[in-house]
Amino acid sequence: MVVAYNAPMEQQTSNPFETALSQYDRAVRYLNIPDGVVEFLRYPRREFTVNFPVKRDNGDIEMFTGYRVHHSTVLGPSKGGIRYSLAVNLDEVRALAMWMTWKCALAGIPYGGAKGGVVVDPKTLSPHELESLTRRYAAELIPLISPHSDIPAPDMGTNPQVMAWIMDTYSMTVGYSVPAIVTGKPLNVGGSQGRNEATGRGVILCMVEALKRWGNTRPEDTRVVIQGFGNVGATAASYAHSLGYKVVGVGDITGGIYNPNGLDVSSMRNFVAEHGDLGGYAEGESLSNAELLTLPCDVLVPAAMEGQITAQNADRIQAKLIVEGANGPTTPEADDILNDKGVFIVPDILANAGGVVVSYFEWVQDLQAFFWDEEEVYRQLQRQMMRCYYATENAAEEYNVDMRTAAQLLAIKRVADAVMTRGFYP
Ligand code: NAD
Repeated sequence: MVVAYNAPMEQQTSNPFETALSQYDRAVRYLNIPDGVVEFLRYPRREFTVNFPVKRDNGDIEMFTGYRVHHSTVLGPSKGGIRYSLAVNLDEVRALAMWMTWKCALAGIPYGGAKGGVVVDPKTLSPHELESLTRRYAAELIPLISPHSDIPAPDMGTNPQVMAWIMDTYSMTVGYSVPAIVTGKPLNVGGSQGRNEATGRGVILCMVEALKRWGNTRPEDTRVVIQGFGNVGATAASYAHSLGYKVVGVGDITGGIYNPNGLDVSSMRNFVAEHGDLGGYAEGESLSNAELLTLPCDVLVPAAMEGQITAQNADRIQAKLIVEGANGPTTPEADDILNDKGVFIVPDILANAGGVVVSYFEWVQDLQAFFWDEEEVYRQLQRQMMRCYYATENAAEEYNVDMRTAAQLLAIKRVADAVMTRGFYP
């Protein structure tokens, strides 16, 4: 059976851009920002759509559609991943670009927000077709990207190899090697130590801090469920497991696996490395993705895609803590239900910021041609994540709001202040 890479748009229960705007409207109310600036920040700065041909291995020509959206370039060059998925559409890319603006601002790194994507199920392409598609899409993006204007990175469906092809395509176009054009590259072409693990690791660092709210919880008694077993989900599972937490449920596009006594994370990772996904993994009870989200557990880590926790399932969620590895996994209606139930949510722009933080380190290393060791990367990552986590907790207390609104208002304030200092051109 061929499984679509992820659920097509009609199976999603929400429009991510509506979610992003609704979160923005909730947060901005707490800030004293001129109406014109509030309106300015609701709009993406630039939206780019490309339709381009790819020659399949059998000689057929097939057309693909890709996007790149720059939401904001106020704090610096725009930064954001590239997603390959059948569910990619302009509203999704707009939302992801806007969340990148807030994520970078919250993390205190000098970037605006961007995102890109191609409507494609990468699992249906041969390695050669994937390379052709990537190189052509990268060539189409040349007017928008550069190490000083817009720096892409991996997201769902893309990986370090895809970043290497983009780096090579850009470098061939300008005539010299430009490692700083993308982050999340393999180490041997200017990648950073720790970048692959950074997002999942940051998620678990946030989880560990948030669990302190419940006093001295013992890792071995803390049950963690993770939806998504790709870069973010699998790394989060391994890191949580290495710290002694009990990973009882894990799922991907093929469904979920549950074992109340704890799953063998490394055997699952080996299985995925061999088979591509978890379909057919037998060491645990199989369940649907819907059942996975409502399993009995202490911590739920959505690490797949947007719109997974909605008004339809929020009241059945049993976790007391949700740490968002994915971008936009929770709709505003679900937020209200969970907040009323007293579920503590560490929001996406905080919880998954580890990826862009280490991407920033990678860009700095590339520009300086001076590379750090893994210990240094992880030390700086931890410092940055803790700083953001506690700034958000303090803002939540100060404004008497939930963590999502606190993270957003801190970020929006930073960008709005910079807008007002820079002024409006001309
Ligand atoms: P990935 O492609 O490596 O993995 C995605 C995983 O989600 C796979 O296991 C896939 O099978 C699963 N999945 C996809 N659709 C699903 C569905 N409908 N139901 C259940 N599972 C599904 O992607 P990733 O890089 O791990 O990204 C996951 C999420 O984390 C995305 O929301 C992404 O935007 C976000 N994120 C990623 C990074 C990063 O550094 N890669 C950084 C910040 C945020």
